[in-house]
Amino acid sequence: MHNQDQALIFESSTPDRIGYSLPEMDVQELDLHSLLPEGYLREEEANLPEVSELDIMRHYTALSKRNHGLDSGFYPLGSCTMKYNPKINENVARFNGFAHLHPLQDESSVQGALELLYDLQQHLIEITGMDEVTLQPAAGAHGEWTGLMLIRAFHEANGDLNRTKVIVPDSAHGTNPASATIAGFDTITVKSTDQGLVDLEDLRRVVGEDTAALMLTNPNTLGLFEEHILEIAEIVHDAGGKIYYDGANLNAVLSKARPGDMGFDVVHLNLHKTFTGPHGGGGPGSGPVGVKADLIPFLPKPIISKRGDEFVLDYDRPQSIGRVKPFYGNFGINVRAYTYIRSMGPDGLKAVTEYAVLNANYMMRRLAEHYDLPFDKHCKHEFVLSGKRQKKLGVRTLDIAKRLLDFGYHPPTIYFPLNVEECIMIEPTETESKETLDSFVDIMIQIAKEAEENPEVVQEAPHTTVVGRLDETTAARKPILKYQKA
Ligand SMILES: *Cc1c(COP(=O)(O)O)cnc(C)c1O
Repeated sequence: MHNQDQALIFESSTPDRIGYSLPEMDVQELDLHSLLPEGYLREEEANLPEVSELDIMRHYTALSKRNHGLDSGFYPLGSCTMKYNPKINENVARFNGFAHLHPLQDESSVQGALELLYDLQQHLIEITGMDEVTLQPAAGAHGEWTGLMLIRAFHEANGDLNRTKVIVPDSAHGTNPASATIAGFDTITVKSTDQGLVDLEDLRRVVGEDTAALMLTNPNTLGLFEEHILEIAEIVHDAGGKIYYDGANLNAVLSKARPGDMGFDVVHLNLHKTFTGPHGGGGPGSGPVGVKADLIPFLPKPIISKRGDEFVLDYDRPQSIGRVKPFYGNFGINVRAYTYIRSMGPDGLKAVTEYAVLNANYMMRRLAEHYDLPFDKHCKHEFVLSGKRQKKLGVRTLDIAKRLLDFGYHPPTIYFPLNVEECIMIEPTETESKETLDSFVDIMIQIAKEAEENPEVVQEAPHTTVVGRLDETTAARKPILKYQKA
């Protein structure tokens, strides 16, 4: 869908207009047929728009102004930790010595880069309470899959071949069961109590000799801390299973509590959430995995280690599950995370958690009078509301989310986790001011009033955006891959 004032780039196309200028060719032109195998060369010219460099610039600048990003406004998308990414990260990632490295360079010529990666591993070991870390995985879900493959390798090495099941709570992030499935396990769901925590009775019922692992997020996706985590770990360990910590959102516990101390065997972190790598738009991300000692032999190779004063890529790891990513992970994102950790320092990282939790509780209490609060207790870095009350008035959570767009806010996460009716999940993060939190809360309260007094204005929102309600399912299922002239 588009309107007149923003043509598609294809519609701005003028034959033979070009956006580049190259000097005359002064070397012999290569015959592509001699370079590429038969069948791989295009037979027709690609259908590309023909525009000038300035046209392209204006086109994308105009598009970017219609988008909502963290740089343009508050973005309280639950479970996504849309915090501010400090610009110093970008400066450091652009240092010539980092930006111009080649991944095939000899170890001796990249000692600084290896030292940075090694140091980052040490920081993450300290932060998570684990014994070793790999920086290879490129995203949270990739880290989950890697971690599960490690658990699988561990059980296989013990001749424990019947551990085919991974247990996940009904409030789990969707990537957890998906990763378990891709890693070749069957997923079993464990129920939550009406307090939003893992139901211990149900856990005892489903755990057994076929349990490979339990995957958990703590605090869970409802923003609630699993108070019985030590008991949960014991139940699974007694049955011979491992417990996996989905540490995508470490904001709630950073420098306060460590997955390793809670009994977890494997953890992944999203450096592109908690540790201020930019995210959205499909990456690049970084999802390092930390493990306890008994899983170290299976880590992806190479591991970055230190021999004397020298940093080396250690490939001598016979039980390794192999590589999970070309080279050594997304180096640039790891540089950003390292910069963040070093520039914040231990006190700074502690403050991150304190403010993230304070901000979430402050907003939750202000909103609790106007929306249903399914779990009325302190939350951690995020909280969920239910739009049940508004639904009775004919206004759905989706309508509320769309109405927020009229006020320049990115909506919270909605209809997730699945175990809360008309769920609205808000994660403010620590980088927002009280003024921003208050303005957002005021608008949420205004929308709750509109739902009572003038529901149409919410039901028909958004009113001020370039496009109205899009058919998101069709957009995802039937993407337009090629522009065709009408
Ligand atoms: C974001 C998130 C993930 C997935 O991370 P990606 O980098 O998007 O793959 C997994 N678990 C939780 C709890 C998350 O919030």
